[in-house]
Amino acid sequence: MKRKEVNSSRIPIYRDAGFELYDAETTARAFSDETDPVQKPELYIYSRYRNPTVVAAEEEIMKLEQTSWALLTQSGMSAIDIALSIFQKGKTTSPWLFFSEIYGGTISYAESVLKNRRGLDIHSFNPVMERYDMASFESLMKKLKPEIVYFETISNPMLIVPDAAKVIKIAKKYRALVIVDNTFATPYLWRPAKYGADIVVHSATKYFSGHGNLTAGVLCGNDPHHLKAALEYRKLIGHMLSADDAYRLHTQMQTFSLRFRQQCRNAHQVADLLVKSKKISRVWYPGLKGHPSYSEAAYLFGDKGFGGMVTFDLAGKSKAEKRRRRDCFIKAVSDKIRLIPTLGDPGTILIPVESVWGARYPEPGMIRLSIGFEEYEELESTIKGALQVI
Ligand code: PLP
Repeated sequence: MKRKEVNSSRIPIYRDAGFELYDAETTARAFSDETDPVQKPELYIYSRYRNPTVVAAEEEIMKLEQTSWALLTQSGMSAIDIALSIFQKGKTTSPWLFFSEIYGGTISYAESVLKNRRGLDIHSFNPVMERYDMASFESLMKKLKPEIVYFETISNPMLIVPDAAKVIKIAKKYRALVIVDNTFATPYLWRPAKYGADIVVHSATKYFSGHGNLTAGVLCGNDPHHLKAALEYRKLIGHMLSADDAYRLHTQMQTFSLRFRQQCRNAHQVADLLVKSKKISRVWYPGLKGHPSYSEAAYLFGDKGFGGMVTFDLAGKSKAEKRRRRDCFIKAVSDKIRLIPTLGDPGTILIPVESVWGARYPEPGMIRLSIGFEEYEELESTIKGALQVI
């Protein structure tokens, strides 16, 4: 049965598992064009390969990151898996270098999948006093000659911003491929591909979705060879986003810059508020002049903002006292600011850093806030009220 075109202004949700190909000749053409960058509407084959609703959402991300291609996946981790795996060349793979301050899941993936299971030579580059030193990075590049350099534009939970343009320049000088996780900065603040990054990845679960109601990932870039390899890998491993999630992502992305702008503004105001409190010993926000990455962040992001994440440490004479204050703060704000282990949600949410990272960040008073796009006044009164109670 053929369906009529309707005058809808929305993208359709194509829930087809397999698409109708009509005859043997079309089928042969569809299969031979399988990894063509542009899929002809009459040649879709199977939703694990490519799906038109997913392609529509990918086009929105290409516009945002200003790249020539983008591929959506069912999580940020699967986007990271594709971005890295397409460069693995069996036993001949050279060292891969990861900046140490990256998402914990990516650290575990590098350790447990890349190193322990696949036998890759994985190295780490550490900051000193919460700053990545570019001279040390260059000497490590010279010595190690890694094939891949992987970093995040804003790290988690201390929000360290590397001199990202310089990192890419140095990496390119030593012929390394550069992969950047731009989840925290988003293209609203900085576009790594414009500065030469080969692949940009995102957990689209976070700011692109912005509503905490779906899990998705994306990788994007400009090199057609990378696109071909990524399309093939996504198809074979089955890291594909569903049409339903792509539809919701597409819709929610229409408000991305409005939401993120407000989140950056709220975050800056919250950081300014927290810094003034005697009950807080330290605040990490790259927009504060006292943050170790302030100059890198100001240089990269200009006057657009400094992101929507704020981390702080509650003051206390002992670890026990800090823990007591932390628990009291979490309880006092819980009606408005809930403990939800994600970020980029509409409302402000928090996580206790010690409980999530354990020995890596053992300060019991540390709390990471993912600032929402609610009215700032509401946020201020909730936080002020909690600081009075503790
Ligand atoms: N990258 C960053 C910076 C993240 O924070 C996360 C998750 O928190 C991921 C990647 C993984 O994304 P997902 O949870 O969508 O797989």
